[in-house]
This record gives sequence, structure tokens and C-alpha cells, in this order.
Amino acid sequence: MIAHNLGYPRIGNGRELKKACENYWSGTISYDQLIQTGSEIRIKNLELQKRAGLDLIPSNDFSFYDHVLDTSMMVGAIPERYSNLKKNSKQGELDLYFAMARGYQKDDGDITAMEMTKWFDTNYHYIVPEFEQNQRFELWSTKVIDEFIDAKRQGINTKPVLVGPVSYLLMGKEKGSRNKLDLLQNLLPVYFEVLTILSENGAQWIQMDEPFLAMDLDLKEKNAFIAAYNEIRSRFPQLKILIATYFEGLRDNTQMAVNLPVNAIHIDLVRYPEQLDAVLSLIPDNLILSLGVVDGRNIWKNDYENSLKLIKKAVGKIGEKRIMVSASCSLLHSPCDLDLETNDKTLPKQIKDWLSFAKQKIHEVVILKRLSSGEIPDEILHQKLSENKKSVADRKTSQLIHNESVKKRFESLAEIEGLKRSPYPVRKQKQQKKLNLPSFPTTTIGSFPQTSEVRSWRAKLKRGELTYSGYSELIKHEIESVIRWQEDVGLDVLVHGEFERNDMVEYFGEMLDGFVFTKNGWVQSYGSRCVKPPVIFGDIQRINPMTVEWIKYAQSLTSKPVKGMLTGPVTILQWSFVRDDQPLSETCLQIALSIRDEVLDLEKAGVSIIQIDEPAIREGLPLRKNDWNSYLEWAVKAFRISYSGIKDETQIHTHMCYSEFHDIIQNITALDADVITIECSRSQMELLDVFADYKYPNDIGPGLYDIHSPRVPSDEEMIGLLKKAVVVIPKENIWVNPDCGLKTRNWEETKAAISEMVRAARAIREFASVNSEAIVH
Ligand code: GLN
Ligand code: ZN
Repeated sequence: MIAHNLGYPRIGNGRELKKACENYWSGTISYDQLIQTGSEIRIKNLELQKRAGLDLIPSNDFSFYDHVLDTSMMVGAIPERYSNLKKNSKQGELDLYFAMARGYQKDDGDITAMEMTKWFDTNYHYIVPEFEQNQRFELWSTKVIDEFIDAKRQGINTKPVLVGPVSYLLMGKEKGSRNKLDLLQNLLPVYFEVLTILSENGAQWIQMDEPFLAMDLDLKEKNAFIAAYNEIRSRFPQLKILIATYFEGLRDNTQMAVNLPVNAIHIDLVRYPEQLDAVLSLIPDNLILSLGVVDGRNIWKNDYENSLKLIKKAVGKIGEKRIMVSASCSLLHSPCDLDLETNDKTLPKQIKDWLSFAKQKIHEVVILKRLSSGEIPDEILHQKLSENKKSVADRKTSQLIHNESVKKRFESLAEIEGLKRSPYPVRKQKQQKKLNLPSFPTTTIGSFPQTSEVRSWRAKLKRGELTYSGYSELIKHEIESVIRWQEDVGLDVLVHGEFERNDMVEYFGEMLDGFVFTKNGWVQSYGSRCVKPPVIFGDIQRINPMTVEWIKYAQSLTSKPVKGMLTGPVTILQWSFVRDDQPLSETCLQIALSIRDEVLDLEKAGVSIIQIDEPAIREGLPLRKNDWNSYLEWAVKAFRISYSGIKDETQIHTHMCYSEFHDIIQNITALDADVITIECSRSQMELLDVFADYKYPNDIGPGLYDIHSPRVPSDEEMIGLLKKAVVVIPKENIWVNPDCGLKTRNWEETKAAISEMVRAARAIREFASVNSEAIVH
């Protein structure tokens, strides 16, 4: 039996990678220093996994930004617009790589970043490969080989991890959108070259991540898998290929998947334990089965008894020698190390005992292997098993988890759900009467730059170096200056800037019952951005108002409307580590009721626009289409409950990022927010077509520029986008805004970009009034 790992977190225990990358981008450290940090993280990770007793350790799971972009570099899928940046040096390669990820804006060029999107249903984002029609590929970056050789020098013969060729193509976008899979024949030779060099250097196992094998596949896609792996097998009979699937079950693809000519296949038994029986009944002789039994996506301690049942079943059927044990997916999605959590106040000991992070998960995998391989358990192993049983039992029965008053509120759910508002046109009129906004109203998504100064106040408050009233003064001062600035620049609907928030989910979690927090439970979100998801361990309820003080203050400073800013129930759920002892829908409705308490309080305080952000609604979609409806039903219900009972005059906004809506547009409509702001800029308004085809009835603010990139857009660029928008959406329904919150940008970029945006709004008002005849719908 082999204990292995699909991937280890690459950010470093203290987020060293984030800091090094950001310092390199700002020019405060050198290329060599950045490389050094990367190499130190890799060395530590390898050591840790070796010491824990893993039999097979991954390499190339490290990345300076994103492993899909690494793959694009490997195969030379570098879009034409970056060709001037290609240099023949290692540093040149890395700079090009960062330019592709982040955009490039210097005297010698102004190039937009590549598109970014969610990695399946996680909160990790990857850079979408861009293919020319008939794209050619060549071996361009040798990172995977270099990192294999580095690890070998360290005395570890690793299992290099590659994004498999079929999943790589399926993740990409081809210009002219022909069938991307036609590119397979161009792509495979690069994989052959890589595998040849790896094999020459002594690689034995190769992990090919093919998560698409667990998704809905059409015939062409299935055939692509068969063709690709047949070719790989025939050229590399000596290499041991492990195909890794995760986040879903093989389900209807089982027959095809287990018959691919590879040595091993990994299945996710946390997400889809039901697949084990089907896989075991169809598995051909000789195929090794890797059992993903330790949850790579959540932070709960593994239930050994439960995992051992699964492993024993597989052993009984195909024998110990054909079994591998592992986490369900790469530990990229887990925080690094629970041992770093030492704050009893935010994470009480009793709850900490229920948890397990990446390092602990590695140990769980090794212990599970030892407990289930014929080996007679020694004293220590025995003890580990009984400790595990105790924690698991303790969590199941703990009084900390169950709150009677929350359960009681559920009884009035139907009544709350029944509180209906007037249809949109009626509301729109009433709202316009109250708000008196110009056409193409301008607004932002909520946050303004979180400077290190603002963050330092919060840190001081936490450390007790600042009183709450001192802190509140500082924040209010910041709010005042952002309100003044927004008035000066000419925005129509203002925001308070979210300075008091560390994070849009953590902030609310900290004020709700049922949450605990880690100090260091960071998980990579994209590039150097990490998130620290709260842990929902028990029943949720709001105790006190959470935002009213700030919004009321902001509104008191201006006669323009200030939006109240809340995070929606689905997003709070989606961006937290969620308890796994009750259905997600139930937890989500508990959050919805808590947000509703806040919405009603804001309305009572005189706030006339309330934004309930749901950037995560789409990523919560089950990965298999058949499962969509049941999710959408409770997600939409939760959102509607969060504002049910408010007046027609109160305008509800919502915001979503990276959303492709075509397939859920009816559900988005069913949310019935008065205004929805969305991301559109990286895809040049392509996303708008669906709102047009479907005739979305309410207002829309298509994101006019990409806030994830430091480059400042020109007003002309945004006017161009608005002109595209007025062709597909009635001009009365269009709002003007960036594509997401501005907290990650600096003030200089923000001020420049928003001024350009306001200029663009003025220009489009002019244009629309002159050309109103010409804009036909
Ligand atoms: N209101 C939030 C902000 O402006 C929204 C962020 C998001 O959608 N991720 O930061
Ligand atoms: Zn957003």
C-alpha cells in the first residue's frame, strides 16, 4: 500500500510566497531573493512530507502564481500580445509569466492580463489558457523538470504533477471557439517531450491531474481521454502514470476512466464516497486505486473508523498491493498547519481538537495506511486511533454546536418567505422617486483601498493597543475622507469603503454565533492573494447589528445615497469551512436569517440602498448539471430570505464576480435584486449577451474595468465597453461601475481609474441622448 499526496500548499507557513511575490513586483526584493524564497518553501514542504512517512511525494505542485498558467508556460501557449516580452533568460521568463497573470503597464507597453476563473467549485482561481485558432505548442518552460531535479538533489524521487493534457485543453478558450480538443494532436508532443526528459532523469511516477474525468463529458471529450492516454502509454511503457480525479465522482464515466491504459487512478471518496462500489466492480486487473479519504477541502479531523471502512472494502476486493491512500484532492485548498493555531480565544481548544490542516492531513494519510496495511498496530498507533475516536465522538455530541433558539426560528421560515415586494417596474419607479439618480448612475462595488495603515489600526485594536473608540474615530475619519472624495469625483451612489472589514466574510463571521477563526489558516485564492476562511462549527445567529453604525455615519455626511454593504448567505457559506454534520442548505438558511436581521436594521436606520454581495453564488453550483436544481433552489431561497420584508422603496443591489450566467440566468433573475453588478471587463462584455438574449428585467452594472490588475483603464476604453452595453441592454437599465471591490488596489490607481470611469459615464449619457434613435433593442 502506498501513502501519497496530490499536492501540498505552496504559500508557505507564514505566507512567505505572497510577501516575496509582492515585494518582487514592487521592486523591493531582487529576482534572486524571490527564487530563493520559492526554493525554501519547496525544500521545507518536501522535508515535512518525507518525515511524515509518505511513500510518494509530489513535485511541481509549487507555483509562483498558478499551476494552470505554469502549464501554459510549459507548452508555450503564450498569447501573441505578449510576444515582445519574451526574453531568453530565467528572469525574463518569470516576468513574462507575471505579466500574463497581472497585465503589464510600463513605458514600453500596455497589455491586459489573461482571463482568470474559478478552479471548479473552489475559491482558487486559475489563469484561463488562451489558444489561437490552430494553436501550436512547444516546450517553453522546463519548470516541472527543474523542480523534479531539485527535489532529487534533496534525496527525494518525487512524483511530478502535471495538469493532464485533456483537462488543460478543456480549461482553455480557443479564439473562434472551435473545438479545443482538436488541439490535442498539437499539444501531446510537448507532453511527450516533458515525459521523456523526466523519465531520463529518473522519474518513475507521474501524476496527471484530470479533474474533468469526474465531470459531465460528451463523447468527443471521452474519446480525447482515450486517445491521449493510449498515445502516452504506447510511448512510455516504463512510466507509472497516475490519473488524479477529484471534486466529484466518476459516475457515468467510470467504465471509460478505469479502462484508460494507466497504472493508477485516484478517486475522491470524500465528495463522492458512493463511487467506490462502482469503481471496484468495474476495475480491471492490475489497475491501482488511489483512495482519497482525507478531506483536502475542509478542515475537519478525519474520522478514521469511517475511512478504514472504505479502505478495507477496497483491500478486500483488489488486495493491499493495489491500494494507494491519499487526501481527496491537492492540499492546496487546506491551510498549512494547525500547530500554528495558539489563540484559545478565537479558536477554543475543544474546537481545535476537531480540526486538521495540511500537515495534519499528511499524518492522517500515513496513519490510515499503517492502520489498514497488515502491519500489527503498535502502542502509538493504537493510541492515535483511540484519540481519533474520542475527538470525533466529542464533536458529534458537543453542546457548543446546537442552539435551540436558532432551531426555533426555522419554524417561521415559510411566513418570512411569503413576504413579497411589488414587481420590479413598480419598485423602480418608487425607488427613482426617492433616489433621483441620473441615467447611467455611477457607483463602486463597496471597498476602497485597504492601506497598510488601515490594517495596522485593526491589528492594534486586536492587540489592545488601541481602544474601540480610538479605532472607531480613525475608521470614521477614513470614511469621511472617502465620502468627500466620492462626492468630488462625481460618483452618484456612494459607499463607506469597508475600512472596518478585514475580509467580506470574516467580518460578518466574527459577529455571528457559530463561527470560530484561525490565526493562520490561509488558503491561496489567486496569485499572491490568500483568504482565511472562518470555520462554521455550529448553529448561526446574529447577536447585535454588524454594520449599522458605519453606514449610518457615512450617510450622515452626505446628501447622496450611501449603500449599505452586506455579504450574502451563499457567499458566507461558500467562503467558510463549513460544518459537515448537517446539509449545507440548512446552514445557509441560518445565515440568511441573520443577514435579514441586519437588512431590516439598516432599512430602519434610513439606509435606502442595500447591497447584498453574492460573488460566490455561481461557484457553489454542483459540478454535475443533474445536481444543479436542488442547489439553486435553496441558494435563491436563502438570498431572498435575506431581504424579505423590506419596502419597495429600498433598493437591493447584489454583486457577483467572474460569473458566467448563461446557464443560470433564470435563477439570477429569481434573486430579484433591483440592481446587479457583474464582472465583464476581462471578457470584453461577452457576458452581457446572455442578459440581452434573455431580456433580464432589472438593472445591470456591467463591470467596466478589471480591478484585479493594477493597470488604469482609459475613459475611451470604458466608453467603448458602454457602447457595446447599450446595444444589448436598455439604456435605462445600465449602471456604471468597476468589476469588483477596490480594496486590493492602491489609492493612486483607484483615483485615476474612477475619475476615468466617471468621465466615461458622462460621455455615454451624452452619446445616448444624442443617439437615442440609433440604439435599437
Ligand atoms: N463589497 C465587496 C468589495 O467591494 C465585494 C467583493 C467581492 O465581490 N469579492 O470588496
Ligand atoms: Zn467581485
